[in-house]
Amino acid sequence: MSVTHPLWRVRPLVLAITATIGAAVLVLYFQYRAIATLESQTKVIVRQLSEQAATEIAGELHRALAGPVIDTMTAVSQPDLRAGRFDLVAQEYAKALAAYPHVDRFLAWSARREINAPGEVVFFGRDGHFARDATLGRAVFELARKHAPAQHIFIAAEGIGAQKRHQVLLRVFWNDAKRLDYFAVLGLVLDPQTSPARLFEPPRLARINAILARHSGEPALRLRVLDERGKVVFGNADAGQISTRLPFPMLFYPAEEIQARMSGGGEMRTWQIEVGSPEMAGAMSGMSQSYWPTLVSVALMLVALGLTVQAHRRSAELAEMQTDFVAHVSHQLKTPLSLLSAATETLQLDRVRSPEKLSEYLDTIHAEAGRLSHLVQRVLEFSRMQQDRRYELEYVDFGALTRETVDAFALGLAGQFTFSVDIDGPGPYVHVDPAAIEQALANLLDNAVKYSDTIKEIAVRVRNDHHWAIVEIADRGVGVAAADQDRIFDRFYRASSGLHRPGFGLGLPIVRELVEAHGGRVDVTSVPGAGSTFRISLPQANPPVIAASPRSVESPEAVS
Ligand code: ADP
Repeated sequence: MSVTHPLWRVRPLVLAITATIGAAVLVLYFQYRAIATLESQTKVIVRQLSEQAATEIAGELHRALAGPVIDTMTAVSQPDLRAGRFDLVAQEYAKALAAYPHVDRFLAWSARREINAPGEVVFFGRDGHFARDATLGRAVFELARKHAPAQHIFIAAEGIGAQKRHQVLLRVFWNDAKRLDYFAVLGLVLDPQTSPARLFEPPRLARINAILARHSGEPALRLRVLDERGKVVFGNADAGQISTRLPFPMLFYPAEEIQARMSGGGEMRTWQIEVGSPEMAGAMSGMSQSYWPTLVSVALMLVALGLTVQAHRRSAELAEMQTDFVAHVSHQLKTPLSLLSAATETLQLDRVRSPEKLSEYLDTIHAEAGRLSHLVQRVLEFSRMQQDRRYELEYVDFGALTRETVDAFALGLAGQFTFSVDIDGPGPYVHVDPAAIEQALANLLDNAVKYSDTIKEIAVRVRNDHHWAIVEIADRGVGVAAADQDRIFDRFYRASSGLHRPGFGLGLPIVRELVEAHGGRVDVTSVPGAGSTFRISLPQANPPVIAASPRSVESPEAVS
């Protein structure tokens, strides 16, 4: 026969717990690694996309600065310009003002036209006409004259005009290759207070947005441009997580292309082109949120494990109880069976001489057979309790039910015990299975009789207290010690005070089970040597109208 070591019985459980927790930890660890990798990959991808977008946006800004200088000012042929064709120049300027909103005005001077505005350039604005602005016009022409000896094609200057505010870029058209004399000057004026923001107006804005959209994935990219003082020129101060920052050397003209052919110049200011994603943090937290389903699954796994452990414990407990039960019942069967077999053996051998002795033996057989049947009945009741007993509920007059149960019980003890029943009027009503409650009452009455001593008085009282219907069964018997009072409702528990009475410790557990199945409770108050009062409390019910008259209860089967 193989004997299972207790450690081995525990080990599968320990292994199951360890395996489940290990699996949970592994799942979380791998998910953590996957998410961390995904996060860093996302960051890298967003950074790369941001860098590409920033570079393209820098190119777009550069084109905005270069276009009016390189393209617009060379669009009219030199012979036309020499001929003073400002109408052709106006056409180009009108197109350029629409394409480059950051340009405040274009300007022109031609030797042919000088007669109209001597010593000053004329300005072409968004009203679509050349017009004079004498102060600025003279200042600009003076600039051209001042730089002419340097014989450059381009002239740049800042702080021009009455308020010393404007930025000016001029293109000088020389008469000949020696650059001794010039016949025309074209140029543009920028207002540094407004032109930075206007760089990002339509139609450029649409192109910038297209660049961002082209490089955006999930999450989308946003642009922010800061000037040399860190002031936001474009975009939102709160642009979210910045993935790339590209310095942009800001001059109001395309320095790279014209620097070598230019006199004067502007101060280079370093702007920052920042591209990032406001949703990046959100996307990252979205990734972290994907932990939740795993955490919930792990939690469910642990709950399942907990339930399994509990079920395992419960089944172990049940197995132990079963063994205990069998041992206990066998022990209880032994005494009456051996007495019965001894008595019958004696009778069989015909050793009983006197009729008194015969009657004594028959009494023993009768008593022990009764004890056996009592035990079997209790065991049957108990086993019925264990299988899910079905209750047939009815609205019942609790007072009437109690009285009838006590009356039926008292019948068999007439002359030996005094029963008093105290009930105030009809009710209270309860919604119960009458047979089950009769059984509970009969068990308590049975105990009251069994544990009574010299004073054989049993008082039964029915009352209602708030929402409870209460029956109290009081005896004046041996009582139960305080230490035993909680335990006597446990299976097989027998208090020391009642050990000399026959019993199996199953009556009160049955009462408790029956009463609790009806939403009620049972308790005891007892003084050892003076008596006990057992109390059943059941929730009161409002009887249906038709059931308002007291129910006639069928004769109860007294359980004893
Ligand atoms: P049994 O009476 O068969 O032993 P019960 O479950 O009915 O089993 O009762 C459990 C124990 O509670 C009894 O052994 C007894 O010690 C104690 N007991 C129950 N009812 C009374 C009572 N009315 N007076 C004194 N002791 C009682």
